[in-house]
Amino acid sequence: MTRKTVIVANWKMNKTEKEALLFMDEFAPLLKKGQEAYIAAPFTSLPALVSHETSASIFIGAQNMSQHKNGAFTGEVSIKMLRSLGVQFVILGHSERRHIFGETDEMLKAKVDLAVDEDIPFIFCIGETLEQRESGQMEQVLRRQISSALKGKSGADLKKIILAYEPVWAIGTGKAATPQMADEAHNYCRTILSEIVSKNFAESITILYGGSVKPENSKELLGQSHIDGFLVGGASLDPQSFAKLTNL
Ligand code: PEP
Repeated sequence: MTRKTVIVANWKMNKTEKEALLFMDEFAPLLKKGQEAYIAAPFTSLPALVSHETSASIFIGAQNMSQHKNGAFTGEVSIKMLRSLGVQFVILGHSERRHIFGETDEMLKAKVDLAVDEDIPFIFCIGETLEQRESGQMEQVLRRQISSALKGKSGADLKKIILAYEPVWAIGTGKAATPQMADEAHNYCRTILSEIVSKNFAESITILYGGSVKPENSKELLGQSHIDGFLVGGASLDPQSFAKLTNL
């Protein structure tokens, strides 16, 4: 089965609006003709980025959204607000949201339910900590994270999902998973999805790898049969390095 290659930048809490626009000015002309790229930017840069004039196919997304539609939730940003800006996708369950800000499986189920109801493309992140991997719990953790959010949904419900496997120990550490480790984990995610959704869905879903991806290690990772692209943090902040990754 051939799946589309998807390369996504996650800028995290970096770049002012001005810096984001400077990035676009340099990055857009570097993108190969016909090549798509995805950028998840801080909320404050989203309006400027979505209206940036570029002939290239650069999709702009948010790094998070509230699980609530509206109401007394100080500091939160709703799906309707993102939609009204023209935001094209959202990241849900990034490991920094889970581990630093305490997002639970229950909260993430509510966010996924909302994204499905509102029909917005979303990247759902999963991944084990070093302690969990070393104590042999990787499969159990991935199964729990995937099942708690996706069980009971059909392939049609999930037509706009992209899964991102991001082992927590590889994010921002410079220590990427080996291509074999990442491929095995992706293959296991497909096994779970085959059981809880369908075989066809498991084979067709795009699964990204994230964790210290850079131009130097990207080709080998992307050469694995279950790796369909990347979610990139640090190496996406520089236009030249992100262009090398997207133009692979
Ligand atoms: C990320 O932010 O999702 C990520 C994978 O970061 P880094 O590429 O810096 O490890």
